[in-house]
Formats: sequence, structure tokens, C-alpha cells
Amino acid sequence: MARFIQEDKVLEVQQATDIIELISEYIPLKKAGVNYKALCPFHDEKTPSFVVSPGKQIYHCFGCHKGGNVFSFLMGFEKLEFPEAVRHLADRSGIHLVMDDKGQYPRDKRADLIKLNRQVADQYHRQLLESKEGEAGRAYLEKRGFKQSIIARFLLGYALPSWDGLLSYARRSKWREDYLAELGLILKAQRKERWYDRFRGRLIFPIFNTRDRVVGFGGRILEEGIPVYLNSPESALFNKGKGLYGLNFAKGPANKKGELWVVEGYTDVLMAHQHGFEWVVATLGTALTTDHIKTIRRFVNKVVIVYDADTAGQIASARTLDMFLAEEVDLYIAQLPEGLDPYDCLVKKGPAVFEKCVQGAKSLFDYRLDLVRRKYDVTQVDGKVKAVDEIVQGVTLIPNVVKRDLLVKKISEDLNVKQSVIQTRIKELSRPRRAVRATEPDAAVSARMAIVSPKDTKLGENIVEIMIEHNEFIPEVQKTLNSADFPTPESSRVAQEIFRVYERYGKVSLDTLLSFIAADQKLADWLVGISERGSMKDVSDAKRYLNDCFRVLEEKHSQLVIKTSLKKKMKDAEVRGDEKEFNALFRKLQELQTSLSKGKV
Ligand SMILES: [Zn+2]
Repeated sequence: MARFIQEDKVLEVQQATDIIELISEYIPLKKAGVNYKALCPFHDEKTPSFVVSPGKQIYHCFGCHKGGNVFSFLMGFEKLEFPEAVRHLADRSGIHLVMDDKGQYPRDKRADLIKLNRQVADQYHRQLLESKEGEAGRAYLEKRGFKQSIIARFLLGYALPSWDGLLSYARRSKWREDYLAELGLILKAQRKERWYDRFRGRLIFPIFNTRDRVVGFGGRILEEGIPVYLNSPESALFNKGKGLYGLNFAKGPANKKGELWVVEGYTDVLMAHQHGFEWVVATLGTALTTDHIKTIRRFVNKVVIVYDADTAGQIASARTLDMFLAEEVDLYIAQLPEGLDPYDCLVKKGPAVFEKCVQGAKSLFDYRLDLVRRKYDVTQVDGKVKAVDEIVQGVTLIPNVVKRDLLVKKISEDLNVKQSVIQTRIKELSRPRRAVRATEPDAAVSARMAIVSPKDTKLGENIVEIMIEHNEFIPEVQKTLNSADFPTPESSRVAQEIFRVYERYGKVSLDTLLSFIAADQKLADWLVGISERGSMKDVSDAKRYLNDCFRVLEEKHSQLVIKTSLKKKMKDAEVRGDEKEFNALFRKLQELQTSLSKGKV
């Protein structure tokens, strides 16, 4: 790998970044002894097996066996290449990266797009606060009762009511027009070769990702016009089905409260936050998707949908919500007074009424049970059958058997149907659950395993572990072994890197070593996996093990020498036609083979 960034700079960036701080910007970490734990962001799980160590500055998942340092985490989580990850963290710590003369640092377009979006958001915000035309936006917000602090916090803005408000500002500021087009902020007139603004005469709601980066915009029309709400189109940064408006502000408070409330509109979110309900978010004009649930699950496992009564009813019966049952996120549905959305309810009835409505939220299951009881005449057999069929659909998806049985009991009591009847119906309705796809062993790996004995594989792992745990043995190992002597490609590559780093820096720690191999995520996973076994912690154990290893290797080596010389002698005997000598040599070789395969050496 050509290294574009100087190695010392990579280390400086890594040492300036605390892994606990970094990871907790993405997922909630809970203290567990000296370490921190979380639900693993790299695989689906219900109980946390993702461990972050502040002492070692690494993370390790005992479920999916992913591991690494700050760079590996960012690469895995944000899907970045190694140099991009280094640059992100350098920016974060204010470290200026020096380019190596080997080449120009690869352009990081995503970072440029994010920067541009922020500049656009700031410009819209200035237009709202300062421009003459912005008066329309200011008046609207004042009329609706939004305070300055909320306007500033959510960076609300105003798009001028002209075809080239943003465009001419962008030209004066020398922004890249192709990037503006890619972000959907300007569009091309169909027949003429002319660009124009997407957002015109609209109040602007910047949409942030969970890291406070502006990824898109929502715009509400202020004069006559359609559509009332308009969002940025999908782009490299913006995905409607994934994002939630306000989640960057809500994730902390929601995590603390243990629940997240989902409303429909951007102004609902603003008014809720203004009243101190800081754990409120909205979808971006879409229904809740599986991607939303995956995002939400990183912060909480209880979600309350807060809609007006009409919408709540429609939403609750939507089959898409079944996925909450399957993902084991507790979903509640709150119903506001007839005809009031969250904004209206807060403004007209006050925060106390709003909060009371949410506290009275019913679980998705109870809400649905109410719905089917109203929909069908459950005093009649026919109505009962239909009601049972509709309600058990969702139940079949719940992975937890205990939970499923409780719900069956509840249906049985509520609809007055025998539990066994419901169980049978569930069996009939559940399609065979798709088995979790086991990770296919890498074909190349299993082929190697066939050649190398398991004992040898372990030997390479153990020596690598010892060298990292006890640096003082590195010179001794290096004297005895070449990195090429290590039995697997992984141990061989890591050993090579250990020798190099030790020579240059005089010490090797797991987190710095990871910085040099982070570009190869699989190798990083392997290295963290073997170093976290902790089997070589005791220094005298390590020493004894190494001595044994060296002895075995020495023996093996000398036996290999003998074997080679035996084979050569056999060949000579064959050429001479000395059958007796040949047979004697052959027996010796066989004895040697037997002792080798018995694993004595
Ligand atoms: Zn995992």
C-alpha cells in the first residue's frame, strides 16, 4: 500500500483521538467495569457484546469478531477508506496533515459535499435573519410562536423567492456548481442550458445526520404553491428512508430517557423541543422503515409514535410496523385529541396535556387489538375468526417465545378464543423463518488450514500475542524467526509489521500496530481477536512458551534438514542402483514422517 500520509502523522492523529469519545458520538456506550459496552453496530444483536477499552484504545465484538482502533471504527461505521478516515480524525483534532511527496492526498469528495451543504445552510440562515425578503420567513415563524433560540439551534433558513438567489451567491463565492447540482440544490432548465434554484421562497429546515453534519434540506412554501413541503433529492449524503429530522439533537436526551418520540412534521419537532421535549424526531416525509428502526435501535429500544387521532389509526394497522415486533423494539402509539397534531396540541392545549397523551400511549399490540375489536363483531364466530387472523399476523414475527405466549394469552382473553386455537393459527400462518446466514468460511482459508496443522496455526497466533503483550521478547523472536517463518499469512504479515514498528519506535502497542494495518479490516479483526484472548498475559508463561516454541522449531528445522538430505541420498542410491541402501534410507524417512505427523515436533 502506498502511504500518502506520513506514518508519524497517522500516529499523531490516532493518539489525539480518544476511542471512547469517538465511538460515543455514534452509539451509546455503557460503563461495564474498566470497559464500555454497547450493542454492536456491525451486526444485529439483542444483548451487547461490543466492548470498547479505554486503556487499550481498541474495540472488540465478541459476537461478530470485528475489532480495531479509532481508524478501523470510522472506516467500518462510515464506510470510509483508510486515508479518508485519517483525514476525518485529523480535522476533528485540528491536526494538519502533511502530504508525502509520493503523491497528492486522494480527494475526499464526501467531505467537500458536507462542507458545501453547511455553507449553503449558513447562507439560508443569514437570509432568514438579515435579508429584506427574509421578513416573510421571520413573520411566519413569529406568528407560529417559535423562539429565536430554536431558530438558531435548528439553523432555520430562508430561500429567496427568485430563480437564482442561491445560484448567484454561489457564483460570487466560487462554489462548485457541479456539486450544488449533485446535492440537488440547483436544477437544469429542461430546454435551455440554464441552471436555477430548487428552493425558492421557502422556509428552510436543514436536515442533520447524527454527527451534526448537514446532509439535506426541507423547505416549506410560504406563499401559495405546491408542494407545501419539498425535500432535497436523494444524494450521496441524503437518504430519506434512513434519516430522522432532529435526531442529532434528540439522540442524547432520548438515550437518557430511554425512549424516542416520533412525530410527523418538522414544525412538530421544533415546538416539542421548544417545550423541553428534546427526545422528539420526525421522519423525512416517509413512513417508518426498517432502516429507521436500525438507526433508532442504536439509541433506544422504546419508540412512541405521536400522531393525530386519524393518522394514528391508519399507521397502527400498517403492516410495515410489524418490523418493530420482529426487531424487538417496543413500539407505542399515542393518540392526541381529535384533529390536533403535536404542534397544535402543544400550542393550544399546552405541554401538560401533550405529555399526558403520550404517557397514555398504548403498545402497538394493544392498539391493534382495540382496532380489530371495533372493526369486527367479535361476539359472532365469523367476526372472531377475522379478528384473530388479523391480530396474529404480527405475533408470528416476534422472535421471543415468552413474549409471544403472553400475547397469545392476551388475545385469548380479549377475544374469548381458546389459546390452543390461536397457537394453531399462528403455526399455520408463520412461514418457516429464514435461517440466519452463517458466515461462509473463506475458501482460501480452509485450504490453508488443510496444509498447516492446527497446532502450527496456533503457534503463530501465540507468538504474535506474546510480542504485543511483552515487547521485551521481540528481539529474541526476531533473531530466531523471519516473518516468513510464521505459519499463516496473517501471523506472517503482522509479525513483519511488529518487527518494523519495533525497530522504528522501540515499542509496539496494539492500538498503534492497528494504525499500520487498519487499511486491511480483516487483518485488524484477526489481530484484535488473538490479542484479546489474554492467554499470554503472564510473563513467565510467555517465556516458557517461547522457549518451547523455539525448541520445537529448532527440532523441526533440523529434521527438515535431515529429511532433505535423506531424500537426496535416496536419489543417489537409486541412480547407483543400490537397492539395499535405498530401502534403508526409505525406512528412515518413513520413521521421520511418522514422528512428524504424530505432532511430536
Ligand atoms: Zn458485532
